[in-house]
Amino acid sequence: MEQSKPSRRKAAKPTKKSSGTKSPAAGRGGTKKKSARSETSTRSTRAKKSRPEARSVNREGRKRAVSSSVARVSDVQAGTGADGTSDIWKWVLGLLAVGGAAFGVVKSVEAKQHAVAAQVAERQASNHRAEAEAASRRAADMERRATRECGRADIAENRARKLAIAVAEAANRQIALLRREDVPTLRFGGCAAAAANGLGIWVDVDWLLSGVVDSAVDEGAISGRVIGVVAHEWYHFLDTQRGTRHSHEEELCADGFAGRQLARLGIPPHHFADLLRQYPQSSTHPAGQRRAEAVLDAWESERRKSAS
Ligand SMILES: [Zn+2]
Repeated sequence: MEQSKPSRRKAAKPTKKSSGTKSPAAGRGGTKKKSARSETSTRSTRAKKSRPEARSVNREGRKRAVSSSVARVSDVQAGTGADGTSDIWKWVLGLLAVGGAAFGVVKSVEAKQHAVAAQVAERQASNHRAEAEAASRRAADMERRATRECGRADIAENRARKLAIAVAEAANRQIALLRREDVPTLRFGGCAAAAANGLGIWVDVDWLLSGVVDSAVDEGAISGRVIGVVAHEWYHFLDTQRGTRHSHEEELCADGFAGRQLARLGIPPHHFADLLRQYPQSSTHPAGQRRAEAVLDAWESERRKSAS
């Protein structure tokens, strides 16, 4: 800080010297103007002394110069002068206008792109709604069809059950009539396949109807199975020696009894024989094939006996 003072003094001295005289620093614009004014003043002083009429001419010249300078300043301030400043402003304004127009174009393109994307999204959403509605309609149709099929199956099952029960009850009464016995109590369910004791007969209708699809088509099979089973259990119902022989022997005797009752009632034996043929031998029952042969043989024998 202390070293800067002498330099300021050195820089100030030449300025004072050059203010009144011509100096090498006269190249600057302000010094030139001052020198020109100084020369003009000197010439004006000389003219004042030599030619009084020239004074008015110089006065007019100064007025024009002043008014010209004022005009230039006003032009610069207004940006319409002839020194190139107006061109810069025009160029800047034009550039801003071009930039603004380009910005507007970009924004317009972006807005169009957003509008197109929104339309595509709306179409996709609409398609998804249509697909969901179609799937819902298909599910409703499937449910209606399933309900209809279940209803038909329920009706068919009820018809088959009613038919089986009616046939069993009729067979129970007819066998009792043939055997001249009181009609035993007949129950449907509460046992495995079928059962009997000295008090009554039990028949599982669901077991008898296994594999039956249409009661109208399978009416013969239902009748043959039901009557054969009721007749088989009738043997156990009448058998007062039950349990004193081997169970296989008792079962074969019951099957033969059933075959004879079927023949006396005019019922074909093969439906009951086919039902028995499905079961393998067990500890309580002989093989199904052997039981089926016992039914068929007894049925044929009874038919021949009745015909003779
Ligand atoms: Zn039996």
